[in-house]
Amino acid sequence: MVGEIRDQETAQIAINSALTGHLVFTTVHANNVTDVIGRFINMGVEPYNFVSALNCIMAQRLVRVICESCKKQVHYSPEVLKESGLDPAEWADVIFYEGTGCLECSGSGFRGRSAITELLDLSDHIREMIINRRPTSEIKRVAREEGMSFLRDSGLAKIRAGVTTLREINKVTFLD
Ligand SMILES: [Zn+2]
Repeated sequence: MVGEIRDQETAQIAINSALTGHLVFTTVHANNVTDVIGRFINMGVEPYNFVSALNCIMAQRLVRVICESCKKQVHYSPEVLKESGLDPAEWADVIFYEGTGCLECSGSGFRGRSAITELLDLSDHIREMIINRRPTSEIKRVAREEGMSFLRDSGLAKIRAGVTTLREINKVTFLD
């Protein structure tokens, strides 16, 4: 386990450990999985070097969970849905929730947190693209074609499950 990689020296130690057969887990501060690739390159690590040592990258964020004691159904207008990049027709049957605020949640409408995640599996195609320094947008497109779901998708699933609010997901994830 390597606590956090911030510089080239630490990155190189982690990569060397992985290349000599150790299973290495580490963390990097970045906005999403594709930003991690850029972070390594900016640290001065050669793409072919870390690509051969890397199996997957997971990004996670915490979202606040709606308080069960004051959870209420809410309705959003098609305009609000569109602003959030949601197709009003597709989301017409989805029940949205918000917490109105109560003693249990100190009036915030939220109680506890839940993680939303995205996982980039480094397939041969993705590895090749990183080595060839392809733009992030292209890597994202191929990852999606290969079945990856992104932070935003994970957040939308939490909305559908009534775990968190649309506003909360808009706060912690970005629209493409
Ligand atoms: Zn409450």
